[in-house]
Amino acid sequence: ATLATPALRTRNLTKRFGGFTAVNGVTLDIAPGSRQALIGPNGAGKTTLINLLTGILRPTEGRISLDDDDITHLPADKRVHRGLVRTFQINTLFPRLTPLQAASLAISEREALGKVWWRTLRSCSWVADEAHALLKQFNLAQYAHVDTAELPYGKQRLLEIVLALAAQPRILLLDEPAAGVPEDESGELFEVIAGLPREMTVLFIEHDMDLVFRFAQRISVLVAGAVLVEGTPAEIAADPQVRAAYLGN
Ligand code: ADP
Repeated sequence: ATLATPALRTRNLTKRFGGFTAVNGVTLDIAPGSRQALIGPNGAGKTTLINLLTGILRPTEGRISLDDDDITHLPADKRVHRGLVRTFQINTLFPRLTPLQAASLAISEREALGKVWWRTLRSCSWVADEAHALLKQFNLAQYAHVDTAELPYGKQRLLEIVLALAAQPRILLLDEPAAGVPEDESGELFEVIAGLPREMTVLFIEHDMDLVFRFAQRISVLVAGAVLVEGTPAEIAADPQVRAAYLGN
């Protein structure tokens, strides 16, 4: 792969649910290392598109490639092993686990250690060491032994990102990473995202336009399942179609 090869590419990606087209002929090229935002009104198809990219949903038409390999038919778990990783909401997944246990599980998943109990994992010291180091790196060490459900909400959302990082992603997909987080903390969360390794590619859905324009290098605007326009924040802000259809001025 040369520098010019997009990390992630879709061609004419389409998803129909019965007669309803949720994603309609989406063609995207996401450059390696880019911080790219996916914006659009509710129901535009953003989450469906992310689900197509991760392999949770199968497209009705079109193709997806990772580096230069066609992954359209690759199962979701194999995509994770190829470095295409999304976050999951931990407060629905692991309310009774501590961050240390959850991070240990995420690391063991990556290493294909199987579905082992955390009690067993605790005796596997390098996993626990790596989990500790990861939590420390993101200033979550003080919460290592607290049930995740007890963490302040902003820290829960940060932990979701940290758990995704345990999989060592090359491409990270974030569906509203700061949703529900108080405004004074959502910027902090995005500082963390901005501070991820430069070579990591990040595609995020975000509704808060201040955050989008502060942190995205490129923006794709999805309307009614289709890409209305794609460009730099300056291009998007100046685009009359976007202003009319989406920003509402
Ligand atoms: P967004 O994330 O931009 O708000 P979604 O991708 O969640 O949009 O949804 C796009 C459209 O597809 C919505 O109209 C939604 O109702 C519809 N949709 C999503 N998932 C399904 C499904 N499994 N079956 C039928 N319709 C769906």
